[in-house]
Amino acid sequence: DITVKAMVYSSYGKPSEVLKWHTYPLTPLTDDTVHVRFLASPINPADVNQVQGAYPLKPAFEQLGDTKAAVGGNEGVAEVIATGKNVNSLKVGDQVVMARSGYGTWRTHAAGPVDDFQVLPPSTNTSVIQKATLTVNPCTAYRMLKDFTPLKQGDYVIQNGGNSAVGQAVIQIAKAWGLKTVNVVRNRPEIDSLRQELLDLGATHVVTDEELGSFDMRSKMKGWFDGKPPLLGLNCVGGKSATEMARYLGHNGQYVTYGAMARAPLALPASMLIFKNISFHGFWMTRWADQHNAADRYKMFEDLIGLMDKGALSEPRWTKVDWSEGAMKHAVDAGIQGFAQGKQIVFP
Ligand code: NDP
Repeated sequence: DITVKAMVYSSYGKPSEVLKWHTYPLTPLTDDTVHVRFLASPINPADVNQVQGAYPLKPAFEQLGDTKAAVGGNEGVAEVIATGKNVNSLKVGDQVVMARSGYGTWRTHAAGPVDDFQVLPPSTNTSVIQKATLTVNPCTAYRMLKDFTPLKQGDYVIQNGGNSAVGQAVIQIAKAWGLKTVNVVRNRPEIDSLRQELLDLGATHVVTDEELGSFDMRSKMKGWFDGKPPLLGLNCVGGKSATEMARYLGHNGQYVTYGAMARAPLALPASMLIFKNISFHGFWMTRWADQHNAADRYKMFEDLIGLMDKGALSEPRWTKVDWSEGAMKHAVDAGIQGFAQGKQIVFP
């Protein structure tokens, strides 16, 4: 008999106030289900919003032992530890990710039908950290670089939140595909080391949000682009600097918003729409996954794990969170505060 330990919530609010450490018996195996053990799960900004009740995807509160609650977290990697006798598509030892958002990954174990999980492609040189953080950020970067406009070798992409986990993946995938990037980050005292870190990942240029609007930067960028300004802009942040970034797109450019870290609206000058014919889109990985089948998702995993295996897409910057109530509560509160030391990851 396995006892599950999990970080759960049964009402919405400040994470440290509503999250609870909970133990309950794992649902026994049936002929058609599997048992998995979680190896690593990150704390992503959306997970924090979800606990706050400020995210459109709200997992149902379900009966977990003596409590009705939802398990926190959406992403992670788990290992299959038992399979029912009718199960053919998964075997003990397989490493799996969640088939859908909202599954609840801050727990030691889970039981469910095979459709709850998706097996990862084989890999030779991809770490548990990379697997645990594969499905949200690298997949988002991959889709945004692929799906909005055809790009050719040498083309520029411009993004803000350049140091976010998504941003780090954009830099590396773009580089692997022969694209150049301009990466906007917030200014800070240690800007030189951050700049170097992103250049080491393969960034072509790193620019601060403060530099972005300056006359100096405009003429500099004109030089970099040499008549071919970026046709794809990726917006993680919103607010004033996101508007400023849009000004650098070329005619008929595509501007994709996927995050709102600054919690300020994106203002759009009419001229961008009328004269430059720039298109503004939103992207949500959850929607993409709902609209595509497991085979499409697997193909993307193969491409990304291929890059990871050959060292072209590295682990995001990350820090370890202890698997304890106090550490988890603190980490989830901190999970959206900015100027962080990297993605927080727990090993349940
Ligand atoms: P990370 O925690 O890795 O990075 C957060 C980023 O946001 C950092 O670049 C950080 O920069 C920046 N940031 C934090 N606070 C602010 C602020 N007040 N103003 C401006 N920038 C700020 O996050 P992820 O890479 O996991 O996610 C980034 C964003 O993308 C989130 O909003 C997330 O919800 C969203 N996302 C959306 C997806 C989708 O499908 N639409 C999928 C994946 C992520 P700094 O160092 O300056 O604080």
